[in-house]
Amino acid sequence: MPRESKARRRERAVEMCRRMDERYPEAECALHYGTPFELVIAVLLSAQTTDAAVNKVTPELFDRWPNPAEMAAANQADVAEVIRSIGFWRTKSAHCVECAQKIMADYAGEVPRTMDELKTLPGVGRKTANIVLNNAFGIVEGIAVDTHVFRIATRMGLTRADTPLKAEQDLLDVIPRELWGPVNHQLVLFGREVCDARRPLCGECPLADICPSAGKPPESTRRKAAARRG
Ligand code: SF4
Repeated sequence: MPRESKARRRERAVEMCRRMDERYPEAECALHYGTPFELVIAVLLSAQTTDAAVNKVTPELFDRWPNPAEMAAANQADVAEVIRSIGFWRTKSAHCVECAQKIMADYAGEVPRTMDELKTLPGVGRKTANIVLNNAFGIVEGIAVDTHVFRIATRMGLTRADTPLKAEQDLLDVIPRELWGPVNHQLVLFGREVCDARRPLCGECPLADICPSAGKPPESTRRKAAARRG
């Protein structure tokens, strides 16, 4: 099969964004938060865990330690106890406290507003920083690539990258900057509703005519079949 030109890939990417805008005009962050600090903490907690599970623990968490000053002075074991129902609670409780301490020590108690500064916070990588910048400050520096965005971008043939970081660069290359803002929230919703990891609903997918994976078995099925063939 001839390799697709970049111009054609761009066209499909823009069309994907247009259709996602049509389907999810109001897509927004599903995590509950009231301040930039609360958003940092909520996104930290959401790694490998559903947003719904995070939203269950954050009311008590934010009630007891509502700002960087109070979280910085928290006992990590107490924080761990509150978030115990979510995955990786030990590491995440450490990150909550260390992150608050760093904000107090280096940023005068305010969540920083640049990608480079945000990435100095313990537990904060480019994905988290993108979400915080976009949602808390209205600054769009990139596209947060989580598991849904990564999967859909791969199935759509917009990236062949093996890491979210590289996949983001591929997406930024084919999606015009002015369209970056809502891509993460829209594709998260789309991934949950249509382009599911195990059972993509290609038959009712609004992207089927521009998706090279339409009708093909999902990656996990292909991997299992290949393993059976040896
Ligand atoms: S056609 Fe199938 S694989 Fe492609 S985006 Fe739609 S649901 Fe996902």
